Order: sequence, then structure tokens, then C-alpha cells
Amino acid sequence: MKDSFDIAVFDGDGIGPEITRPTVDILRKLAAQSTYELSFVDCPAGAAHYAQTGESLPKASMDVARQSDAILLSAMGLPTVRYEDGTEISPQIELRKALTLFAGVRPVRIFPGQRTPLKMPEGREVDFVLIRESTEGLFYSQGRGEVTKDEARETLLITRDISEKLFRFAFKLAAERKAKGQGVGRVTCVDKANVFRAFAFFRDIFDGIAKDFPELVVDHAYVDATALWMVQKPWDFDVLVTENMFGDILSDLGAGLMGGLGVAPSADIGLDNAVFQPCHGSAPDIAGMGKANPMAMILSGAMMLDWLGTKHDNTAMMTDGERLRKAVEDVIARGDGLTPDLGGTGTTTSIGLAIIKELSV
Ligand code: ATP
Ligand code: MG
Repeated sequence: MKDSFDIAVFDGDGIGPEITRPTVDILRKLAAQSTYELSFVDCPAGAAHYAQTGESLPKASMDVARQSDAILLSAMGLPTVRYEDGTEISPQIELRKALTLFAGVRPVRIFPGQRTPLKMPEGREVDFVLIRESTEGLFYSQGRGEVTKDEARETLLITRDISEKLFRFAFKLAAERKAKGQGVGRVTCVDKANVFRAFAFFRDIFDGIAKDFPELVVDHAYVDATALWMVQKPWDFDVLVTENMFGDILSDLGAGLMGGLGVAPSADIGLDNAVFQPCHGSAPDIAGMGKANPMAMILSGAMMLDWLGTKHDNTAMMTDGERLRKAVEDVIARGDGLTPDLGGTGTTTSIGLAIIKELSV
């Protein structure tokens, strides 16, 4: 059992530094009371860094990330700063590619008392996980599209190697959730296999991997129907796994169900490393105003504790991951001092302090 971990911290752009501060503070306090150690290393990167230095992801930061046990990232990119060719600055995509972080994990949970646009029937609970392939799919085409005056083409790439790793990850996650009493052990492959051969290929690989998990339920759905069901009966889902672009769109829908981006965490996980970051962007419209909700980032920190704890068989970390999630849940349920995105008048700092109080750390 490993008990000392190096965390690379990318506090990024916009509201990034504001939401990173309480997150790191809470993680430090949890570790200080427990048997594991966390050391945080700052990694400069992002759009503001590019504007100053001409580099968006310095080699030194990349090296720290590679050698770290896990990476905590807020958000990077600013509408006012672009690469010379006009494309957005998104070093997080470079990190995903460089470290082969193929599984984008987006838990969709509606906590009690949370403001959701859904009408929740009595006794129903929304608690599912969307897994978005994060290194290929339609995003493979980024920077490779061909555009003439009359025509534009982009390429969708699905590989057997990445798809197998992705589906194995999805089935293992469903098994872990089932063991915790959190899900029914069902994995749904979301695709468009009725129209595209690439998705029929994707689905075939899924069915092949499913054979290694006979105790789990194998399910298929088309992406359009999935969007409908996410609104009509999201309580029926357990683990969903899909291609990059479909996952990009469905994960924003999932964040919408949760009552906003301010509470939607995520992780991009590979075989050796992982990035934990909120689903939202750098929110430059509210940067520096002290009203950004840090919960999505703090919940991403909880996912980091879960992942490190599971990977290194460290139960203290797993317990803290669960405690942290519960503390956020309780602050939301109480409804006092929430940030404006959740209908309150609280601040980034006051939410951080409320969670610390809840944890008694
Ligand atoms: P990206 O392209 O990086 O995903 P985006 O254009 O989707 O960025 P975001 O930065 O995610 O945009 O912001 C979308 C909206 O949600 C903005 O109005 C922003 O202020 C709000 N928002 C995002 N994150 C938070 C947060 N943590 N707390 C409060 N509001 C937020
Ligand atoms: Mg966005």
C-alpha cells in the first residue's frame, strides 16, 4: 500500500485559481488528519501563460504531470487568447493525448435538495456515470479537417486497442458500483450502429469485452434515444459508455440535469495516470468576482481520492473520497450560502469554508 502521492496542479485560467485554492486546501486538511500524504506541485500552463510566454504547456509542467501520481486541473483557455492559426488553447486535450487518458468519466448525480430542471418522481434517484472516450472518435480529426471552398470533411477514428481498454474500464466500474450497492451492474454502449459502420465496429468490440463480465448486464442504445431518455428517465441508467463527440454532448446534458456546470465533476483516466477536473470551462465572465462555485472541482478532488485509493489499495483515501462527496451533498441539501449559480448569495470562499466545517477538518 502506497501512502505518499505527488499531485500535479494546473490552476489554469479564468476562475481556475479561485476554485483550485479551496480544493487544494480541503485535500491538504483531509490528508493531514489521515494516514496518507499528498504533495502538490504547481504546473503553469494555459492561455494566460501562453500570452505571457508563448508556451501553453511548458515542458517542465508536462514532465511534472508525467511523473505525478495524479493530476488536478481546473480549466484552461480564454476567448481572447488564441493560437496563431485561430484555434483555442486547450492544453488539457494535449495532456489527454500525451498520457493516453482514454476514459472520460462524468458522474451524473442529483443530490437531495439540488435544483434540477427535472421533475423527479417520488423515490427515484439519479446516479449514473457517463464514460466518454477521450482520445479519438471524431475529435481525432481536430486540426486534420479538410476544407475547400465547396466541401468540408472530418474523420472519425475508432481503434480496437483503445475501445477494448475503454470497455474494460466501463465494465470494471459497473462492477465496483454494484459491489458498493450504487448501481445494478449494467453497461450501456451508446452509439449509432444503425447508420455508421464505425459504430457497428465499436459495438462489436463492446460485445466481445462484455463476454469477460458474465455477471454484468449488457445493454445497447442509440445516441439520439439516449439524449431523450436522459431527460425522460435518467434514473434507469447505470454506466453509459460512448464515443468522444457523443460523450462531449451528452456530458453537458448530464451537467444540465445536475443543475448546472458548477456541480459537475469529471476525470480523464488512462492506464497509468489521470486528470481530475470540473466539466466546466474557465468561465471568464465571472473570473475574479469571487462567485465561482468550487463544488465541481472539489468533487473532482473526491474522484481523485477514490481513484488513487482504489489503485493503491488505500482504504483511508477511499473513505475520504466518500466523506468529501457527502460533505458537498450536505452543504447543498442545507441550501445556505450557496453560490449564485445554485440560487444563493454565497462566495467561492464561503462554500470552501462550509465544506471544511462539514468535514470538521
Ligand atoms: P469551455 O469551452 O472551456 O468548455 P464554455 O464556453 O463551455 O467553456 P464555461 O467556461 O464552462 O463555458 O462557462 C459557461 C457558463 O457557465 C458561463 O456563464 C460561466 O460563468 C458558468 N460557469 C462555469 N463554471 C462555473 C462555476 N464553477 N461556477 C459558476 N458558474 C460557472
Ligand atoms: Mg463547454
